[in-house]
Amino acid sequence: MYLALYRKWRPKTFSEIVGQETIVKILKNAVATMQVAHAYLFSGPRGTGKTTTAKVLAKAVNCEHPVEGEPCNQCPSCIGINNQSLLNVFEIDAASNRGIDEIRELRESIKLVPAQGKYKVYIIDEVHMLTNEAFNALLKTLEEPPEHVIFILATTEFNKVPVTIVSRCQRFDFKRISTKTIWEHLKNIAEKEKLQYEAEALHLIAEASEGGLRDALSLMDQILVFNPKITVEDTLKVLGFVSWRKILELISAIRENNQLKIINEIAEVVERGLDVKLFVQQILQYVRYLNLIKNGIEVEELMPEVLEKLRSEAALWEEDKLFLLWDDIARLEREVRYASFPRIWAEVGLLKVARNLEGKLLKPATILKPVEDSKEESKKEKQKLNEEKSLGAINLLKTSEWQEVLQKTREISPPLAIHLSKGIPFKTADSIKIVFTDEEPLNWIIHYKKGSQVKAIIKEVFTEALGEGLKITFNVKKHSLEEKTDEPKALKKAKELFGDDKVVIINKEEE
Ligand SMILES: [Zn+2]
Repeated sequence: MYLALYRKWRPKTFSEIVGQETIVKILKNAVATMQVAHAYLFSGPRGTGKTTTAKVLAKAVNCEHPVEGEPCNQCPSCIGINNQSLLNVFEIDAASNRGIDEIRELRESIKLVPAQGKYKVYIIDEVHMLTNEAFNALLKTLEEPPEHVIFILATTEFNKVPVTIVSRCQRFDFKRISTKTIWEHLKNIAEKEKLQYEAEALHLIAEASEGGLRDALSLMDQILVFNPKITVEDTLKVLGFVSWRKILELISAIRENNQLKIINEIAEVVERGLDVKLFVQQILQYVRYLNLIKNGIEVEELMPEVLEKLRSEAALWEEDKLFLLWDDIARLEREVRYASFPRIWAEVGLLKVARNLEGKLLKPATILKPVEDSKEESKKEKQKLNEEKSLGAINLLKTSEWQEVLQKTREISPPLAIHLSKGIPFKTADSIKIVFTDEEPLNWIIHYKKGSQVKAIIKEVFTEALGEGLKITFNVKKHSLEEKTDEPKALKKAKELFGDDKVVIINKEEE
């Protein structure tokens, strides 16, 4: 019988768990020093190892001869749990057992001491699906858990778990696993399975699985159905992806404004039965990589060969044009996503992008051109811009720094963080500029709470994340292809609220 790779290679010890080193270390240590908690909450995206870790932990606490916190996998208890003959570990899927009756049943069952082994371990998967009554019943149990019981609650939606439950648990947040780590793991498994494979194919799988190891292994299984050898061609077919070489060819066709080539590339995608929407998404992804590379930001998740090709492509672009390309393709992606005839939209859109870029150079000063509000202010801004120009550099804010700003914002206000994250952050020597490509998120930010409070929050998070003394400006950069409109309402309101203090909102006049 064919055993799915995911099942076959499911970790049996802590050290085999991939990409969650910190969590594993803490849990191993807890077992080794006999300081295991009575309730754990494992949160994080699907396929990142929550249930797997829960099962290893269940085995470790019951193991007769644990070695430095690891289960031995040889004692009767370990063997019993591995082959499911020992009934100490209970897996409950809260998605299908979400009511009060199931939890009542559970409360009866936990009263009995285990027939064998030290602990009864209850793993409740997707715990956020429980009904309110069930949560209340569970809470009572968590308040006074019997000595011989350990609860491990797992969820993909942490914010739906009541605070009362969370506060009773030791919480671990499982992170998405990096593409590189997944890639290495897939290669490792392919070697052990003695599979023939092209390294690039495994990288494609790793990329497509977006941080979930289980998804990566199921994809590998699907591809093996085609062919015992894992090739790039089959992988692209299963994923519906266009190869990165084709994407880069298209991007260079845009750079050269080679209209015929652009049309042909799209035609080829359609003829091969691939999804044009996905194609435009892929272009957007690679244009993003190019922008990051141009700004000296590390792109870890790419294969060395791809990275090298992207570097040479990035070198052929002027920084400002590359940013314009990013902005344009992001917009196009959204249009194509909702279009009834995606092919037509993609064609018109990409041709337009290429034409517009040709011979057009957007100076940083143009992006940041202030509203002619009062002459005084405008003069001041112009002077400022000249200073900045002489200082030279306007760069994208480093991803890690921007993430930190967003994280700090999230701690104060998750919705504010969501809207803020739609901006693109730039950095100069003494200021941060957040550019929005449409008005909506900025509009939201301004109307959130009282203006003065938003301003205080923004000042606080940027100061905490990046240090004192930075001037923070917000800016709507309308798309050049859009019709000229009056000054956006959001902007007027913003100026009333924010004045010319440290947090200001300025706008680029449309051409
Ligand atoms: Zn054991």
